[in-house]
Amino acid sequence: MARQKGIEEWVEAVRAEFPTLSRAVNGRSLAYLDNAASTMKPRRVIDAMQRFYAEDYSNVNRGTHYLSQVATRRFESARESVRRFIGAGESREVIFTGGTTAAINLVAYSWGEAFLGRDDEVLISTMEHHSNIVPWQMLCERKNARLRVAALDEDGALDMAALAERITPRTKMVAVTHVSNVLGVVNPVKEIVRLAHEAGAHVLIDGAQAIPHMPVNVQELDADFYAFSSHKMFGPTGIGVLYGKSSILTQMPPWQGGGDMIGRVSFDGSTWANLPHKFEAGTPNIAGAIGLAEAIDYLEGMDRQRMADWEFRLAEYAIELLGEIEGVRILGPQQNNAGAVSFVLEGVHAHDIGAILDKQGLATRTGHHCAQPLLKHFGIESASRASFAFYNTMEEVERLAEGVRRVVDLFCSPSIFEEITELTNLD
Ligand code: PMP
Repeated sequence: MARQKGIEEWVEAVRAEFPTLSRAVNGRSLAYLDNAASTMKPRRVIDAMQRFYAEDYSNVNRGTHYLSQVATRRFESARESVRRFIGAGESREVIFTGGTTAAINLVAYSWGEAFLGRDDEVLISTMEHHSNIVPWQMLCERKNARLRVAALDEDGALDMAALAERITPRTKMVAVTHVSNVLGVVNPVKEIVRLAHEAGAHVLIDGAQAIPHMPVNVQELDADFYAFSSHKMFGPTGIGVLYGKSSILTQMPPWQGGGDMIGRVSFDGSTWANLPHKFEAGTPNIAGAIGLAEAIDYLEGMDRQRMADWEFRLAEYAIELLGEIEGVRILGPQQNNAGAVSFVLEGVHAHDIGAILDKQGLATRTGHHCAQPLLKHFGIESASRASFAFYNTMEEVERLAEGVRRVVDLFCSPSIFEEITELTNLD
């Protein structure tokens, strides 16, 4: 693969901003290839949160004192940063949640309890993360509604014809992932939104794996709901976002009761706060919002198209190198990959691969990736996954391929058990 000097120098420069990337693991320099699980944080995100706790800390919303006003201003300014970043029309359409999972559960409870009826249908796809399956499954059980599943084609891409057929007059919600956390494939969500709206259904897009990799504009997509997590986009853990169209959010009842989400409370009954506070009961993750806003500022200062192009190239190179190794099967379509490459190696359990790679300083993920139905589609129960961010390098991809070759060699070697025991410290 031809190298591009300019971009590689740029990658080296951005790597320097992420302290964890320069550490060693098991005596080797860390190659962090687990970005779909969570990304590393740039120094400025860590510093912004520390500064908030050290200098400006207070609770938000209720205070008349100075620090409370500062904290409230910063929290609301973080909401405005998110609005700008995702192209929402109004900041009240940005609800802070604990993450993608909490955001989807919010919709499944609040919208679901109010608007899904008996025999109505919720349509998801085979490639959903458990977070975009289980809340809908629980909702459909509660409401005697039906959960329907759009199948994948032979390559593992969404079968759009099958999906279109599954949308019926009974479909009230279509909930699909923008990018698969296992396959890395980018789904044609704009087209899905169009099809769903034609049938009068709402659409929730699980954006957990898209937002770190590409510019997202919720108004252009015309998404009714868009959910994502800060920790996968270089921000802190414990905070995420539900974007919802205000025309729908205003119709939805609150799902958690408590402080901050009320207008007035009496024992005869209570009234609710306006958006977005109606959906933010209790003290929010203030420092998390400030860290997320810093991550957004960081991303907005970068050339996002350049980052996305690089990530696509890293995935392409990984697919090329891994594909050359005998016994390796790469899951899913081999094009249009936003940065997650999953594979199985014939005769070797994914956990063994992960443990051996780890000993070489390569952080990958193994298991079912919270997508058991998808793995079942491929006839497997676990897989290995390397997932990339813009700070990964072509050398790291080469180290990954070398590492997998080493696994192949080990498993073909007669002294395999001693070597594996030594490498994985399983004795
Ligand atoms: N959806 C997708 C596609 C994901 O990759 C993940 C995280 N792996 C989630 C949802 C859940 O995100 P969180 O755990 O941050 O709530």
